[in-house]
Amino acid sequence: MTRHHPDSLTLMEYSAGNLTEPHALCIRLHLDQCPHCRSRVDTLDSLGAVMMEQQPKADVSESMFDSILARIDSDTASGEVIAEVRSRMSPLQKLLGEDLNSLPWKRQLGDVSVLDISERFPGQSEQVVLQKLAAGGKAPAHTHRGEETTIVLQGAFADQKGVFNQWDFVVLNEQDEHKPVAVGCEDCITLSVLSAPVKLTGTFTRMLNPFIR
Ligand SMILES: [Zn+2]
Repeated sequence: MTRHHPDSLTLMEYSAGNLTEPHALCIRLHLDQCPHCRSRVDTLDSLGAVMMEQQPKADVSESMFDSILARIDSDTASGEVIAEVRSRMSPLQKLLGEDLNSLPWKRQLGDVSVLDISERFPGQSEQVVLQKLAAGGKAPAHTHRGEETTIVLQGAFADQKGVFNQWDFVVLNEQDEHKPVAVGCEDCITLSVLSAPVKLTGTFTRMLNPFIR
């Protein structure tokens, strides 16, 4: 069960087509598995054109969108049937193939492996990295630089903020220091988009978000 969702502004930017391709992929993957957010985006898609026509220069704050979405949620929470997850090939499978575990992972440190897939997004300045924390494995305590958008593709990890399961969405920044562990019986695999270039600070510290940096 997905419990960690993109915030309202991010969904709005997605709906408006303002996100970069890697960021949009993270949202799309989440939406494919999260009826709650899909419903919000469907509504934003409908509202967006109307709002932009009526208030083209409005200063749209997150609190304003939260209040709108809260009303939408209250209107639709009573059992509106959400479309089932489609059986088509997911954008993840198109990008990475069927088996995440067989990718050419590079072992970095202890239980952590990484794979930089930035080149699959030509023209993007962001770094796009897959990370794998072996089942039961631990990552050293670390902080983050810049803003990192992460979605869990397989398995789950836990830190002091809670448990992040498959398709959960999390944004980490320099305020976040954590010491994640892979929980459950599967390797935990995440997809992260780094808004700023990674600053290399040591042999073992590159490309290891959100598990190590
Ligand atoms: Zn969601």
